[in-house]
Amino acid sequence: MIKDKNRIQELMELDKKHFLHPTSPIKQQQDEGPSFIFTEGKGVHLQDMAGNTVIDGMSSLWNVNVGHGREELGKVAMEQMSKLAFSSCFATFSNEPAIRLAAKLAEIAPGDLSATFFTSGGSEANDTAYKLARHYWILKGQPNRRKIISRTKSYHGVAMGATNATGLKPFREFTNSFDPDFCYADHFSTQDLREVIEAEGPESIAAFIAEPVQGAGGLHVAPDGYFQEVRSICDEYGILFITDEVITGFGRTGKYFGIEHYGVVPDMMCFAKGVTSGYAQLGGVMISEKIHKDFTELSTGTLLHGYTYSGHPMACAVGLKNIDIIEQENLIKNAEVMGNEMLKGFKWIQGERRIVGKVKGLGLMGGIEIVKDQQTNERFQTSIAPMIVTEAAKRGLICRSVVFDSQDTLVFSPPLTINKEEMARLLEILNDAIAAIEAQVL
Ligand code: PLP
Repeated sequence: MIKDKNRIQELMELDKKHFLHPTSPIKQQQDEGPSFIFTEGKGVHLQDMAGNTVIDGMSSLWNVNVGHGREELGKVAMEQMSKLAFSSCFATFSNEPAIRLAAKLAEIAPGDLSATFFTSGGSEANDTAYKLARHYWILKGQPNRRKIISRTKSYHGVAMGATNATGLKPFREFTNSFDPDFCYADHFSTQDLREVIEAEGPESIAAFIAEPVQGAGGLHVAPDGYFQEVRSICDEYGILFITDEVITGFGRTGKYFGIEHYGVVPDMMCFAKGVTSGYAQLGGVMISEKIHKDFTELSTGTLLHGYTYSGHPMACAVGLKNIDIIEQENLIKNAEVMGNEMLKGFKWIQGERRIVGKVKGLGLMGGIEIVKDQQTNERFQTSIAPMIVTEAAKRGLICRSVVFDSQDTLVFSPPLTINKEEMARLLEILNDAIAAIEAQVL
């Protein structure tokens, strides 16, 4: 026991001194060190070095769709690594897992999305989509179509292009560098999208990108009819429509891909995270058959975009097995059923607690807005959701707060494997954590 304590203490000090954490409160990290040093996971649970077990109410970063501790994914990774850990996909080289995964994606993706460019994650997928869109217009003889329109409250990642497309301003202000070829439309208003297109000049717009459900920006589900109208506006102005399915893909919302809820087909689709449930680093962009044909027929040179790890054999083998698990275990249906259960539970908590405002969700993506007054929707002067997140973690539940753009929201995305008992426990801990903070702030 003392040995364990010493080891934890040693790791805390090494972490503070040597580990610059991604998207982290750097001062707090220095003062307090890591809050959990995780060592293992099983299903919806994570365990840390100090012996604490918590429900992973976020699937870590919205990505561990099939849950933790899947030995079959470890086995596939080991077998592929032992046989062929890596070979290049540049030029005309290929490998079987990449080919088979690309073919599988074509089978499950909406409409005529049929060819995949692989990346190592979601940010790279987004940057790839913008570059492919711009290159497409060069090939089509409209090189001035360079601008990318995205939405307020959107999050598309942290690569240069993805940062610029991210509607949440603090991410762009972080580097004080603003690319004029990126512009933003209100996340819920097709009228605003139309106005932005007109103001920027339709012939200068390459693409419009949107997440089917905004996650990191505060859990926003689009109003009825929004995406159908977006599709027709993009068609009217000849603009490519890209969906960012990095979070919403692979069953998270109760359909294979989030955009399927709206019955429209994008021209390109970015994915990552759930494609391997985080067991390997993989993402990509799918393009429609039409764009693929145009690329092939109009291109005169090299497709000058490629990552060393595009089509990584081990990552693709893990992706294939992960999709197999999602299908074999009916996890998309479970996401729909348990998603309804989660939303029902949020409504129950709303009835129990005075500081819970609007509750929202689609499948296993859910959000709870915190308010001072349920009747008037008045907000607290300071953010309360982060206090609830800390309290919930102490009580055995990991969730996340969103405070960008004056929001005060809790967000959730548990693994798609979650069962009724686990969901009930999640809701119980959450209600207790909110009650504890409510007692402090009201
Ligand atoms: N797009 C969306 C919608 C995301 O939520 C994220 C990450 O959370 C990204 C892109 C970036 O993906 P990655 O962190 O794998 O680069």
